[in-house]
Amino acid sequence: MEIKRVLIANRGEIALRALRTIQEMGKEAIVVYSTADKDALYVKYADASICIGPPRSSDSYLNIPAIMAAAQISEADAIFPGYGFLSENQTFVEICEKEGVKFIGPDVSAMSLMSDKSKAKSFMKRAGVPVVPGSDGAVKDADTAKKLAKEIGYPVIIKAAAGGGGRGMRVVHKEEDLEKNFWSAESEAVSAFGDGTMYMEKYIQNPRHIEVQIIGDNFGNVIHIGERDCSMQRRHQKLIEESPAVVLDEVARKKLQESAVKATKSIGYTGAGTFEFLYDSTTKEFYFIEMNTRLQVEHCVSEMVSGLDIVELMIRVAQGEKLPSQDEVILRGHSIECRITAEDPKSFVPSPGTITKYIAPGGRSVRMDSHIFQGYTIPPFYDSMIGKLIVHASTREKAISKMNVALHQLTIQGIKTTRNFHINMMENKDFRDNNFDTNYLSKYY
Ligand code: ADP
Repeated sequence: MEIKRVLIANRGEIALRALRTIQEMGKEAIVVYSTADKDALYVKYADASICIGPPRSSDSYLNIPAIMAAAQISEADAIFPGYGFLSENQTFVEICEKEGVKFIGPDVSAMSLMSDKSKAKSFMKRAGVPVVPGSDGAVKDADTAKKLAKEIGYPVIIKAAAGGGGRGMRVVHKEEDLEKNFWSAESEAVSAFGDGTMYMEKYIQNPRHIEVQIIGDNFGNVIHIGERDCSMQRRHQKLIEESPAVVLDEVARKKLQESAVKATKSIGYTGAGTFEFLYDSTTKEFYFIEMNTRLQVEHCVSEMVSGLDIVELMIRVAQGEKLPSQDEVILRGHSIECRITAEDPKSFVPSPGTITKYIAPGGRSVRMDSHIFQGYTIPPFYDSMIGKLIVHASTREKAISKMNVALHQLTIQGIKTTRNFHINMMENKDFRDNNFDTNYLSKYY
């Protein structure tokens, strides 16, 4: 079935990024927007646009009836979910299926298998993928957690089964801190995800976060598009991502990529997804932590090293086409992405407001994925990411130099942004020497 009109159920940079590919493929891009986003660029560029409600996400970008009505009115035959919002919402996928609108992503069964992170881990363990030692499924209360932590050995990490974005997570170093951390993680999970199911893992000291981009089609083919190193994090949230992960040797890299492909096949997965692992660089062991059943923010670095358009592949798979073979996926050079947020570069406190001046960097292999423009007012209602600066070069060293120059040429005035944080990182010796892990920034921020 050829998809002709795609409704983008998202906002911000990813709405614009998806719109470009949809139109490049000769299809129509329909966008939906809240009243707070009425002046957005993707609304201007869209083939049709429909307002779906007031600013609050629950009234607009999470409002399933309004989005389905927009799909009907615009006669969209497919929905592109992006990341966040409804991208991992099973009810939404089921409704799309019922209404005959193609959800560009996995089917409900694969999504539901991976959506509960504790269940996903148990499944992966059975499929022969190494997982972090921890609870087998959910941990019902603090007492059970205490008993289990004794068996696993401290430090442990308490995590939300429905978690995301680093929320609902607490590291516990000793028994007397367990109870209060269990309750606070649980209440954070209830308020953030409406689900207080918790599980527990051994806390891996100083790991690298390495993930594998995969995509599967309806013919049983699964390919990987290399791996990404997302270890530069603040409070378990990614700030800088790279591909390839140069910390891996060829043996470890192959093992990681092969286990992601094997795991994808074991769940009969179609569409794009990411297997996330923690990697212990001293023992060279890796452990599965979760699978994201959607496109990720950092997919661009994989696009840069492969020359592939992942959104295009997702759409092709959704309209029943076959994927290229693994041999056709050739990974070259090194790519880095810096997430630019409207936040103070030292405190990371959000800084919404109007952009009075904007000059984007350019040049060979420099990509700015952003929806902002001069005069644009950043609404205070949503995520503070305003763009991603991505570069590609033949080596990591050259990519860092390119990123540094590009960041210096990036001008955003009127609001605070994290540009200067990234400039400091590009000039930081440990970053340049690739000598860091997921805890690196906790010493400073
Ligand atoms: P989320 O879905 O909220 O992003 P993840 O499970 O992907 O949560 O974990 C996010 C980050 O938290 C990881 O990249 C890592 O830095 C840290 N983390 C999670 N689990 C562990 C663990 N068992 N040991 C050490 N760090 C962990």
